[in-house]
Amino acid sequence: MMMKKLLLLALLVSGCASVSDRPATVERMYVIDCGENRVKDLARWSTADAGKGAVFLNHCYLIKHAKGWLLWDTGISDTVAAMPNGMTVLGGVLTQVLRKPLADSLQEIGVAPADIQHLAMSHMHGDHTGNANLFTAATLYMQAVEYDAAFGPEPQKFGFQAANYAKLRASPVVKLAGDHDVFGDGTVVIKSAPGHTIGHQVLLVRLAQAGPVVLSGDVVHYAANWNAKRVPPANFNADQSAISMRMVEQLMARTGAKLWINHDPEQGKAIPKAPAYVQ
Ligand SMILES: [Zn+2]
Repeated sequence: MMMKKLLLLALLVSGCASVSDRPATVERMYVIDCGENRVKDLARWSTADAGKGAVFLNHCYLIKHAKGWLLWDTGISDTVAAMPNGMTVLGGVLTQVLRKPLADSLQEIGVAPADIQHLAMSHMHGDHTGNANLFTAATLYMQAVEYDAAFGPEPQKFGFQAANYAKLRASPVVKLAGDHDVFGDGTVVIKSAPGHTIGHQVLLVRLAQAGPVVLSGDVVHYAANWNAKRVPPANFNADQSAISMRMVEQLMARTGAKLWINHDPEQGKAIPKAPAYVQ
């Protein structure tokens, strides 16, 4: 009996040691400024904020894992950088602005689009797929329902602009029906979080020093909506949206992860931008 207890203790201790000695397999993450969405009226995102304007930040996230590079979201199209007044979409509600093309940011980091072997986007709206066509060398990770909507006969019905990502039609794809551990070590995990779009997803990244973070995609757009768990009226499915926010909240409670809200007008300002990185 005593022997058994000692053995168990030894196993627990050695188990702990192997966890803390485990090498950091996410080596770094670059948070890239991928433009700005100037919103005239927030009614589309929350009836409580109808009539108010906002400037949504817009980011791409480049992760260097020991097994390769993964890009999460591709931002506003680099073509917008040449438009002095930006590009107005959604019937005037929103103007996209881009100061620095993603291609330039990658060059500054020292990574070519062809070096990126793994591409995942939270969803296929224009401000997340703007530069998708640059990454034809990458394997694509998408929820099957999002893939079928994006590459099916009527992408516009889902609010997608097929020209943004047309070149990915030939890409190798891992079609998902739920969560997916990209590198098999639990450090970069895609979590299905439908509602904003039919197959929206978020990304859990375990950083060695900063700790775990959830990259929100558009499961929420800004802090006030998160705090009140408000579902934007323009979302694809309101019930699923609420369930996905609860899923993220539970994931955060379970893992201690922080939520990095891609579009929040304030939160992203405090996060160092590429070519700096977080670890
Ligand atoms: Zn968005």
